[in-house]
Amino acid sequence: MKLLEGKTALITGASRGIGKTIALTFARHGAHVAFTDLQADDAAEALKKELLTYGNKVAFYPSDASKYDDAQELIKQVVAAFGRIDILVNNAGITKDNLLLRMEEKDFDAVINVNLKSVFNLTKAVQTVMLQQRSGSIINMSSVVGLHGNAGQTNYAASKAGIIGFTKSIAKELGSRNIRCNAIAPGFIETPMTLQIKEEIRNEWIKTIPLRRIGNTQDVANTALYLACDLSSYISGQVISCDGGMSM
Ligand code: NAP
Repeated sequence: MKLLEGKTALITGASRGIGKTIALTFARHGAHVAFTDLQADDAAEALKKELLTYGNKVAFYPSDASKYDDAQELIKQVVAAFGRIDILVNNAGITKDNLLLRMEEKDFDAVINVNLKSVFNLTKAVQTVMLQQRSGSIINMSSVVGLHGNAGQTNYAASKAGIIGFTKSIAKELGSRNIRCNAIAPGFIETPMTLQIKEEIRNEWIKTIPLRRIGNTQDVANTALYLACDLSSYISGQVISCDGGMSM
């Protein structure tokens, strides 16, 4: 059963990692997929080719999610090419970890801009489109770190906690127009972002996860699929943890 037949989805920061698996999952479920990343590189080209094998419309846009003007231009281009936007996944994100003692102002600003300001940029630009359609699902990528904090990640935790407040507020602002907004709080997920972590630290973390495994990108993409499709038609303003039970 295809859950997103005929819908158009826009996913930010999708050339690799979680965003890439979300794009592929949505395409497999019948969605037309527009995706972004900072640059048009081999990864973006390869994903575009793979997405096209599902037989739906696909387009890649190099776009910096942290830039307000880029977001405005992107939404214009996606609407011109696809006619509508049913699903927005604000996935683009970075880390620049350090204890506050050593954290530089530029690293705080960069993480807030890419992780949180981007959600403002994209949501503000897409809301006009969704308001006209009188429908839409916005999915914001938060983190277990946004719920519980983490030493060495004050910038990242603040950005991901900010996303939760933003999500709930937008759910209240746009709910009467049939626009839903939810957040996903992934736990420890195997991606290029987490591959640098040393094996002994990974093993310690696994012991704290009730399901006793690191998550994979498909675990998160399945959660995004649920929030994107009509199976979650009465769910808005929620933060769904996808973390093997880690944040109980
Ligand atoms: P990833 O593998 O590093 O992928 C992030 C993607 O975002 C990359 O393709 C990156 O592009 C892109 N990006 C970075 N800055 C951007 C910008 N300004 N504009 C547009 N795209 C940009 O990360 P991931 O692990 O898949 O994470 C995806 C999301 O899930 C992030 O929001 C992250 O915070 C969140 N998350 C991840 C985990 C985890 O365990 N992995 C846990 C909780 C939450 P480049 O390749 O050009 O850098």
